[in-house]
Amino acid sequence: MQSTMMSGQRPAAFSGSKARLDKAVRPAKLARVLVPTVRAVVAGATEAEVDGRALRRSLNQTGRYVRQPRNDPISQQKMDEHGVGYSTSGLVAQMRTQGNLWKEGEITVKLAKAYGYCWGVERAVRMAYEARQAHPDKKLFVTNEIIHNPEVNQRLKEMDIEIVEAEGDQKDYSKIGTGDVVIFPAFGATVQELSDFKNRGVQMVDTTCPWVAKVWNSVDTHTRRSFTSVIHGKYSHEETVATASFASNYVIVKDMKEAQYLCDFILNGGSREEFLTKFAKAVSKGFDPDTMLSRVGLANQTTMLKDETEQIGKLLEKTMMQKYGPEKLNEHFLLMETICDATQERQDALYEIVADPEIDFMVVVGGFNSSNTSHLQEIAEHKGVPSFWVDSAARIDVEKNTILHKLAHGELRETTNWLTPGKAVTIGITSGASTPDRAVEEVLHKVFKIYNPDFSGIAPKDCGPVVTPDEEH
Ligand code: SF4
Repeated sequence: MQSTMMSGQRPAAFSGSKARLDKAVRPAKLARVLVPTVRAVVAGATEAEVDGRALRRSLNQTGRYVRQPRNDPISQQKMDEHGVGYSTSGLVAQMRTQGNLWKEGEITVKLAKAYGYCWGVERAVRMAYEARQAHPDKKLFVTNEIIHNPEVNQRLKEMDIEIVEAEGDQKDYSKIGTGDVVIFPAFGATVQELSDFKNRGVQMVDTTCPWVAKVWNSVDTHTRRSFTSVIHGKYSHEETVATASFASNYVIVKDMKEAQYLCDFILNGGSREEFLTKFAKAVSKGFDPDTMLSRVGLANQTTMLKDETEQIGKLLEKTMMQKYGPEKLNEHFLLMETICDATQERQDALYEIVADPEIDFMVVVGGFNSSNTSHLQEIAEHKGVPSFWVDSAARIDVEKNTILHKLAHGELRETTNWLTPGKAVTIGITSGASTPDRAVEEVLHKVFKIYNPDFSGIAPKDCGPVVTPDEEH
């Protein structure tokens, strides 16, 4: 992936073809329909019985399906106003023009080379804004949070785009009817949801990141070739739920420990009951570990730690080689490259910045339920660099000089006197792939204010548009 920014790492966007908001079909109003979500889907509802790839293809033929942004300037302008796009004139934009560096009095800030919005997320938010713009009088719904960022989701709500929340294991889509617009978020929707909305005849705006769709394709290949998908992910994460829905047989492993257990089972066998208890929420319906692990393919939640996905791939490969012999490896193990570049770049940049001896500590900005952000925090902690993870500037109290921050394992902690005004400091900063630049700017504003109560902000300076490469997966 190329970048045009000085850092060479700014997220890319798709130019693609203009989205087509084709003529809406107006079906009869539908009765209340509860669609299983998270646990029910992972436990293996009926969606795997649907041919996922054929279904996705058929959506294109409905005339009610949009899956590319239109690059509408009015929507872009609104995103700028709301601070939910890339910064083009604020502090982050200005840092980009000077080597991701900023000096403010005694504070030096180093911005990671790759940070913030990935193209998939920016693209999803843009498509949601464009949907609102294209359908000013219609009811708009998102089947989940569009991305894992509370402020962006709040903005959508303010634009009268309703996020359909889960009720336990299910979602009630019954209020969505003829003429409404349904937006699928960046991490996708399940086969069952796609099928349901296709049959309802609503207008569909599919913002699923093409990288996520690429994983779906690999899972689909596993299914077609009678491989069981081993998905490295979190079984309750929306993206993994969607990915699993495209597989016939799957098991989800969250880390190396679970992968090792799986591989030990493949090599040596074990208690079927214990296996099924351990992976109760993470296997397909009717999964049989005794018969379904002789041919496995690896897939991943795109925001997992890249190194760990690679290690799991190597472990599976070694296991299948040991069990069946190197000459038969291809018959028993399938690996396709599906690790998202954006996640990888942010993680690599984090490794680089925490190795910088001048850095006193890190600040990581991103939603507390954002998987990729949690991994950035995890890397800093793992490398022994003090790191404060906040989801917004609201976690920082300027007058008290306190910060309420989250640790990688989930604990929320308040640290007092976390900054020492008067003492020179070098801060490394990064942000998760679902974090708009404005959030970073607001955090830094508060940091500067703690050091200098008279600090009143950085004057905007037009740094030009964020030019991103054309790329299609
Ligand atoms: S992190 Fe990667 S896969 Fe996820 S939305 Fe961004 S670009 Fe797409």
